[in-house]
Amino acid sequence: MGRIFNFSAGPATLPVEVLEQARSEMLDWQGRGVSVMEVSHRSKAFIKVAEQAEADLRELLAIPADYAVLFLQGGATQQFAQIPMNLAAAGDTVDYLVTGQWSKKAASEAKLVRKVNVVADGAAGNYTDAPDRSQWKLTPGAAYLHYCPNETIGGLEFHAVPDAGGAPLVADMSSTILSRPVDVSRFGMIYAGAQKNIGPAGLVVMIVRRDLIDRVPDTVPNILRYSAQAKEGSMLNTPPTFSWYFAGLVFAWLRKQGGLDRMAEINRRKADKLYRAIDGSGFYRNPVAVAYRSWMNVPFTLPREELDAPFLSGAEKAGLTELKGHRSVGGMRASIYNAMPEAGVDALIGFMADFAKRHG
Ligand SMILES: *Cc1c(COP(=O)(O)O)cnc(C)c1O
Repeated sequence: MGRIFNFSAGPATLPVEVLEQARSEMLDWQGRGVSVMEVSHRSKAFIKVAEQAEADLRELLAIPADYAVLFLQGGATQQFAQIPMNLAAAGDTVDYLVTGQWSKKAASEAKLVRKVNVVADGAAGNYTDAPDRSQWKLTPGAAYLHYCPNETIGGLEFHAVPDAGGAPLVADMSSTILSRPVDVSRFGMIYAGAQKNIGPAGLVVMIVRRDLIDRVPDTVPNILRYSAQAKEGSMLNTPPTFSWYFAGLVFAWLRKQGGLDRMAEINRRKADKLYRAIDGSGFYRNPVAVAYRSWMNVPFTLPREELDAPFLSGAEKAGLTELKGHRSVGGMRASIYNAMPEAGVDALIGFMADFAKRHG
């Protein structure tokens, strides 16, 4: 069996060229007679991998020198708890914008650690639109404002960086990092679980302004301190070396593709044609406000729920997998990250048109 088009939201499809490179290096990495997984994280050879990955990421995102880049563990979810511990002191208020399942979860974890103010919550509109900026109730002097630029489940994406009103902006970019250029200097912190747009699971990439992590309260254990990780090159303990290595290969692959301007162009085109196919079908429906439709995660429903099962089994037979929507939204969801080739989106659109014709 060959490669299929895998629309999984995460862990998600990876670039074939990178998988092939990892395969070719698996048994004998750099002529060492071992795989990269079998060497010390403190060896010269691995340190070089780690440093090159950081350098390539810095180049891709034009990360300013006053930002640290960390390669951490625990998933984005662990950061939901760790961020308020590190960036706010006891008694501080932290602001959260809630636009879907992930930002909601981030706020509820933060509540266990610090005083949380939800500046606005899109629940009333079922998270299909972002609360208008004029309605946000920002806390003067908040330690930071947290938001999720791309809600992976609802398919709601901010296409511009919101005005945080002076507070450092903290962004959970798990499902949109590297999909396009961003102005890092607009953010206090950007973090992302790797398994959507970076590489295998087990790694979180964090980009953070150094002055923000220096304020960490004394009570935070060393292993949970970003400042300590920054000082030790993210090697306070053994990092997930294979994921780090693989992320480095993906960063190099992105540079070879032409960088993030080029990825943005391709991602926009992929998303545009899929939304056009949905809107023009008179059959499929995407509920998200047009200005906030995600380039990365495209949920859509069919006119009748009983069509979901035949749609999914037909798609599977056509080599298009993992299209079932999240249980909280229903219907379908096509995740079309950097590594999803445009041919995969074309194949999906072709299958959708054919299915609609047969069942419309
Ligand atoms: C997948 C995802 C997470 C959760 O990531 P874990 O690595 O499972 O903790 C958090 N936020 C967003 C936006 C995601 O897409």
